[in-house]
Amino acid sequence: MKHRGDTADDRPQDRDDNRQIFRCQAVAEHQRLLRKDPEYRWRRREIEREIGDWIRAYGADGVRTGLIRIPVVFHVIWHTSAENISDAQIASQIAVLNEDFRRLNADATSTPAAFAAVAADARLEFALAVRGPGCTPTTGITRHNTALTGWTYPGNGMKSAATGGADPWDSSQYLNIWTVNYTDGTLGFGTFPGGAAARDGLVLHYEATGRTGTTMPGADLGRTGTHEIGHWLDLQHIWGGSASPSSTDCTDGDLVTDTPNQAGASPFNSSGCRTFPGVSCMNGPNGDMFMNYMDYSADPCLNTFTAGQVVRMDAALHTARASILASQGLVPPIGIPGPDLWSKDTSDDTGAEPNTSAQPMYLSDDIWVRRQNDGLSNQDHENPEYRTAGGSPNYVYVRVRNRACNGNQAGTVRLYWAKASSGLSWPAPWDGSVTAPALMGSAIGSSPVSVAGGDDEILVFPWSPPNPADYASFGADQHHFCLLSRIETSSTSPFGMTSAETSNLYANARNNNNIVWKNISVVDDLPGASKSTGFMISNFGEKPQELWLRFAVAKEDYDLFRWGRVLFDVPYELAERLREGRSEGIEWLSATSFLLAKPDAVIGGGFELRREEMYALNARFISNGDPTIGARVFNIDVTQLNGEEIIGGVRFALRTHAAKWFEGQCLETDHSPGPRDGGNWIGRGDGGSCCCCS
Ligand SMILES: [Zn+2]
Repeated sequence: MKHRGDTADDRPQDRDDNRQIFRCQAVAEHQRLLRKDPEYRWRRREIEREIGDWIRAYGADGVRTGLIRIPVVFHVIWHTSAENISDAQIASQIAVLNEDFRRLNADATSTPAAFAAVAADARLEFALAVRGPGCTPTTGITRHNTALTGWTYPGNGMKSAATGGADPWDSSQYLNIWTVNYTDGTLGFGTFPGGAAARDGLVLHYEATGRTGTTMPGADLGRTGTHEIGHWLDLQHIWGGSASPSSTDCTDGDLVTDTPNQAGASPFNSSGCRTFPGVSCMNGPNGDMFMNYMDYSADPCLNTFTAGQVVRMDAALHTARASILASQGLVPPIGIPGPDLWSKDTSDDTGAEPNTSAQPMYLSDDIWVRRQNDGLSNQDHENPEYRTAGGSPNYVYVRVRNRACNGNQAGTVRLYWAKASSGLSWPAPWDGSVTAPALMGSAIGSSPVSVAGGDDEILVFPWSPPNPADYASFGADQHHFCLLSRIETSSTSPFGMTSAETSNLYANARNNNNIVWKNISVVDDLPGASKSTGFMISNFGEKPQELWLRFAVAKEDYDLFRWGRVLFDVPYELAERLREGRSEGIEWLSATSFLLAKPDAVIGGGFELRREEMYALNARFISNGDPTIGARVFNIDVTQLNGEEIIGGVRFALRTHAAKWFEGQCLETDHSPGPRDGGNWIGRGDGGSCCCCS
């Protein structure tokens, strides 16, 4: 017996080349399981509740400032040699994901301006696993010659060796992707969170994988993978969770409020895209978001996720998919001396000593601050906040890993704070020895830790930051602090460090995977929020330093200069010294203010800073009001160098926020109900920018 909506997706989307195409079977599979499997039905209800709670708690914060990197394994199931797709084709799929989930795709500029205002960077990275099951080295690709000539939907046979496919790797630690020869026109399907572990992951037609090698028209840019990972992170189709692609139903929503209500799927048409605007469900003037990755348009037409979708994916990653955050799938299993406690300096750190990442060493995502005790439910960094005496503390979290395959290691985590500066040294000021003009750093606490091989532990330290009023002499820089975590595995010097610590903290952090450091100040581009922050340049070393400052904006963040301007204010005495040295890429606006004019800039070549001298700098962020920026994070790194030696640095993370929309209509208030999408808008109380009403 057929139920309404039963076979939602088993309807041809295209007849190019006389070939029926079924763009996606994820929802068909989801509905099949809901009908058949009471446990799945129950788990899905629980997951939706958790995700809803998470979005209510954190959805208004904006996109994550940290990056999450997901380990991927491809299982290539082939019968003919053409189906045995190349490593290069798989690499091209990974490259697509790393563009689409960072909004770095070249065709992001094709998003119509009205929708670009709600577009968002999902801040997810993907990489082929290097550590396989049983702690074996791997390329992240497994290949299986099968006797079966083809596959059809429904069926999960490709997910088991016993039925001609390949068994999954532990789906709590890896994103499994099978490539197969679908002979019924299916391009792919991804599983929602909550299904059986043995079936979790994506199946892609081998000709709908990546963007080089063997691909078919319309599915040749790797967007089937992008779309199916959207489902894997709990996104629905943009036209609704249950309706058929050919629906004209406007009552069904996708649980995301900044996607327009849309009747049915846009056609998969390999020879062209819909014309903007394409109106359905009274969603004019801008109409359907047919360029959204969760629609059915052909690959060249797709180019964006929205801020609401990104929040939903983040909610899934912090609830039903949280185990992937601690995966060791990207840590090479070879060349490890034995049980080895460590934390990450950078998002691409794998524990090697020294860390060879091109990213600065003061960005550790393994240290984060929450202003309230959020447990592990949100692991993104917030700026610490001072509370008057007796007020509740902030909470600092430290993730400690053990990169060995097995074998426990025990140690002691020592956590410190310092007033934010690009010129920090070791052990001053972290040891409490610098007290003028106020206490410049001190210990927060210490805790024993013991971690099994391949595992991790998260420690929490309550912390009451010092009173900003004590630092009034530093001008605007009163709220910004650095954090340092050192894991000692011995009580005698060098305390278990591979390289004995010197006064150069930056080198200590790079050379020892036991030492991690965080110096990030988040600046929210929101009405009413302060868009200025500060830091100090300082010399806590033993000798005078010949300094210069380097300002760096990575290529992926060049849109910062479209967003607006970044200005720095410096004390007059320092400005005079800075002017004497070489400078490049900056523009003086007044005697004491300069503008960052280029992504790579330097100032002050060789100016002298005497021992214990320090100056406060203020950074100001001034928006051009361009509504098409969407929800992003622009990072600006300021590094202090002594000759060629890096002393330290600070990162400003400028977070932009999406325009506030509901069903294609700009919001008048923050709490407009969302009856058609089944959810409420979760805007901030301060209004927000409402730029695109027309
Ligand atoms: Zn789909």
